Amino acid sequence: MTSANRPSISFEFFPTKTEAGHEKLLTTARRLAEYKPDFFSCTYGAGGSTRDRTLNTVLQLDGEVKVPTAPHLSCVGDSKTELRELLNIYKDAGIHRIVALRGDLPSGMGMASGELRYANELVEFIRNETGDHFHIEIAAYPEMHPQARNFEDDLSNFVRKAQAGADSAITQYFFNADCYFYFVERVRKLGVDTPIVPGIMPITNYSKLARFSDACGAEIPRWVRKQLEAYGDDMDSIQAFGTQVISEMCEKLLAGGAPGLHFYTLNQAEPSLAIWENLNLNR
Ligand code: FAD
Repeated sequence: MTSANRPSISFEFFPTKTEAGHEKLLTTARRLAEYKPDFFSCTYGAGGSTRDRTLNTVLQLDGEVKVPTAPHLSCVGDSKTELRELLNIYKDAGIHRIVALRGDLPSGMGMASGELRYANELVEFIRNETGDHFHIEIAAYPEMHPQARNFEDDLSNFVRKAQAGADSAITQYFFNADCYFYFVERVRKLGVDTPIVPGIMPITNYSKLARFSDACGAEIPRWVRKQLEAYGDDMDSIQAFGTQVISEMCEKLLAGGAPGLHFYTLNQAEPSLAIWENLNLNR
């Protein structure tokens, strides 16, 4: 919850490769800014592949669109010198929130390299370099990170990462509120009270969602999958059904104590806003 005791709402973007894509991102961001979210965030291509584009997008969203914006920063493939340089640029620009990740190197970039191997080491590095300047967000995986040895091991790794100096966490998206509640309960039992905000993926395109969910370990429940499959190319029905399913899950999450919602916008405003309107989140 924010200081006003209302859920924290944030929107995530990815930096685009083209000028047209960037313009679309800005239009989306301006539209979402009207709803007064708590913050925006912008992803980072592990290994520095979007270094300049992430930096420029963050500075523009924060400075021109005037919504506090958090850069994502990942440690695989980047040296400490490169990470330090970026942290200092963000600090000097008055950025106060950062999403600290290990990252996944894109296929073709070889084996993971870099001086920091896991996100807990990056959190520690940011704290050592910049003290309390940044509010540090970390990633959480209610359905387990796909490379983890098992759930308990992943849970211990999350706890270590939180205790390295994180202020709050954002989850990988999921379609089942129970896995979120179970994860939070287990984390609390281990003595960690870091707020954990559910990451929300609006459903807009079934085939893309299915591919992406397979890769990141998010399970689409059979009843949702079957319904989406049956709609075929009928995008309107997919979106209407998707909005209903996700809105109901968000309602359950907030009623059950989730401190906020973080929307994976994929640079589109309407799918997140349709859920926002259903939830009556107006502020
Ligand atoms: P970690 O917390 O380091 O965990 C990675 C794996 O290693 C887990 O299986 C964990 O159990 C294990 N592990 C953790 N610490 C240790 C340790 N000390 N010793 C042994 N094993 C350990 N990716 C990007 O490239 N760019 C982005 O901008 C981006 N944004 C994201 C935002 C959110 C909210 C989320 C949820 C994910 C995002 N990702 C992004 C994806 C993320 O980088 C991948 O899921 C990546 O595989 C793991 O990152 P992490 O920070 O969770 O890693």
